[in-house]
Amino acid sequence: MKLSTLLTVLITHLVTLQVVVQGINLNATKLTSQNDTVHLQAFQNVIPHYNGMLSNDLNNSNANIIGMERLKKTPFPPWLTEFTGITEWPGLNPPYIPLDFIDMAKIPNYATYQQGNCDANPREACSFDCDYCVEPDDVHTCYKLSQTFDDGPSPATERLLQHLRHRTTFFNLGINIVHYPDIYKKMIDKGHLVGTHTWSHEYLPSLSNEQIIAQIEWSVWAMNATGNHFPKWFRPPYGGIDNRVRSITRMFGLQAVLWDHDTFDWKLVANDPSQSEGQIYRNVMDWMKTGRGLILEHDGAERTVDVAINVYDIIGRDQLTVAECVGGADYIRKFDYNGEL
Ligand SMILES: [Zn+2]
Repeated sequence: MKLSTLLTVLITHLVTLQVVVQGINLNATKLTSQNDTVHLQAFQNVIPHYNGMLSNDLNNSNANIIGMERLKKTPFPPWLTEFTGITEWPGLNPPYIPLDFIDMAKIPNYATYQQGNCDANPREACSFDCDYCVEPDDVHTCYKLSQTFDDGPSPATERLLQHLRHRTTFFNLGINIVHYPDIYKKMIDKGHLVGTHTWSHEYLPSLSNEQIIAQIEWSVWAMNATGNHFPKWFRPPYGGIDNRVRSITRMFGLQAVLWDHDTFDWKLVANDPSQSEGQIYRNVMDWMKTGRGLILEHDGAERTVDVAINVYDIIGRDQLTVAECVGGADYIRKFDYNGEL
């Protein structure tokens, strides 16, 4: 697949971007800024595979520690070198590469802000994590109660894949995809739907427009190079999305996916006593009474995967992918590279 063709596909998709009408107000309990901060700390400090893979040593010692055989990164494709001038996958801060289908003049001029600093912009900026505001093309619920999983692929993901007997939705980090391509491919082979969760899990409203674009473009390229497809569904880390972020992700043809049921399973990994496995299962049984909604879970750590397996056993296989929830396509496009990589 030539890059020019890829871009044409993108532009074509922009015209046909599917708009799914949703309600504007959500009834979920508002996150506190303290919770958000703990989540950030949990992600950066507690999940060991994430820090390990950034030290660029996964091909040797860490491979033994995490119990996997020699790990092989996704090869960096020649078409991407041709386009970017870069020869290897970036680290936590991917470089901004200009794209001709991104019109910077159309990005609204809202202020950047750190997580929890919710006074930076007027309400019409429509922040999900500050105000639980959603736009008409956001997906935040489902007519059938369904699990979704963020932050993989990780070594823990494999156990989840072995257990699930239905098609589910994973929102993956680009940096994890290129480090765990075999687990990513297993996801795909088992028929699961994969969306992007950015390249390296930054809180997008705190970033410049160029940094947001870099987070999205590198995650998309990771999926192009590993799974030969172009994502349609996007979940912002920490639910961090406002109309500045949306304007950029829409230009990629992506639709944002949020949630209306949060397990707060990451608190287990952070040893936060305000959440327990038992509480999560009680919540799930409450959610089953309405039979609807999108559940937020994580497959980045063994303990959250344990919970995910038990939640699956409670709900059963009668669940939907995000695309099925709204009658949308799985991907903007699937590619056959024919060895051109
Ligand atoms: Zn996440």
